[in-house]
Amino acid sequence: MYDWLIVGAGFAGSVLAERLATERNERVLLIDRRNHIGGNAYDRYDDDGLLIHQYGPHIFHTNSKQIFDHLSRFTEWRFYEHRVLAEVDDMLVPIPINLDTVNKLYGLNLTSEQLQDWFAERAEKNGEIKTSEDVVVSAVGRELYEKFFRGYTRKQWGLDPSELDKSVTSRVPTRTNRDDRYFTDEFQFMPKHGYTRMFEKMVSHPNIHVMTQTDYDDVKHVVPHRRVIYTGPIDEYFNFQFGKLPYRSLRFEHVTLDKAWHQPVGVVNYPQTHDYTRVTEYKHLTGQDHAKTALTYEYPSAEGDPYYPIPKAENQELFKKYERLALSTPDVWFVGRLATYRYYNMDQIVGQALATFRRINESLPVGADT
Ligand code: FAD
Repeated sequence: MYDWLIVGAGFAGSVLAERLATERNERVLLIDRRNHIGGNAYDRYDDDGLLIHQYGPHIFHTNSKQIFDHLSRFTEWRFYEHRVLAEVDDMLVPIPINLDTVNKLYGLNLTSEQLQDWFAERAEKNGEIKTSEDVVVSAVGRELYEKFFRGYTRKQWGLDPSELDKSVTSRVPTRTNRDDRYFTDEFQFMPKHGYTRMFEKMVSHPNIHVMTQTDYDDVKHVVPHRRVIYTGPIDEYFNFQFGKLPYRSLRFEHVTLDKAWHQPVGVVNYPQTHDYTRVTEYKHLTGQDHAKTALTYEYPSAEGDPYYPIPKAENQELFKKYERLALSTPDVWFVGRLATYRYYNMDQIVGQALATFRRINESLPVGADT
């Protein structure tokens, strides 16, 4: 008899498995339908020995010391500040848009103060900010919006920014200084030996039994267990009874080149050209020293694994119906990005898992049912 059946061995499932096994001395069966642990953060060595991220680049960043310290139990870190360039009008310029972006693109020599005025002259401030288009046009004007955001968002989401919730482009700031870091969080690191190694260390505990290539449906009526932590898609758990929650998917094309370097930074975005949205070169992220280099091209698609919940009001309403069912389902805890139908960064999922663990401790005293 397992105390817990945990469905999904990504951050949500693995963090909780470790906590329950270590702090409550409970027996955990951790399953994943994929053939590996780590969820979307899974990384692996390709045939040439280059470390790549199977599901696209994952850069760890957080402002939470508690979350950073928690993960530090399972990995050493490599300092890495992520930088992204966008290919716009045949030039490579920093994104988020900053002082250098505008000066390079328009052949100007503005100061930070002048750039503020430059943005203000172009910003269209007419009314309430509702959509992704409104967010950008009201900050930097229509021309930069079209160069950097319109095409990229249409490729990424298959929708025009005017049809998407403001949350999508609100994630990308605009700067008037020369800071070209993609993130400004206090802690920006990559796991020194990769994510998969970190996960292996996290779940290697005598109380945790890991089974990959195992679907919840395969074991739910077969393996005795007291409670469930479910980190898969919430609509699937309830047999899609209200309909499918829409997701945007991606196809990843992994390529190895017989040369040391391909591009100047970890990620280059392509808002104007090509069917792919961005290209990642992993050696920038991992610091690996290798004669070859590994890249991933990302092609957005309507079909495939669920990656990005589509942020539209009607989808949230559908999710709320499932959430109400989840709240009235006893002994099942719904955790993680697929069970809560929201885009979360890795650190947020670790935070969500640790908060769930605290709630479990509050509602279930250790040993109460043994
Ligand atoms: P997942 O990692 O998806 O794990 C859920 C697991 O459950 C999966 O492995 C799945 O196979 C399994 N599962 C589902 N249903 C079942 C079932 N019925 N039976 C058995 N197993 C099941 N975050 C960052 O902080 N920085 C980044 O740079 C970053 N980049 C990203 C890039 C991309 C392309 C994407 C898509 C996401 C990125 N993220 C990034 C977000 C990050 O991937 C998530 O925050 C994190 O993976 C969520 O962890 P999770 O455990 O909730 O879900």
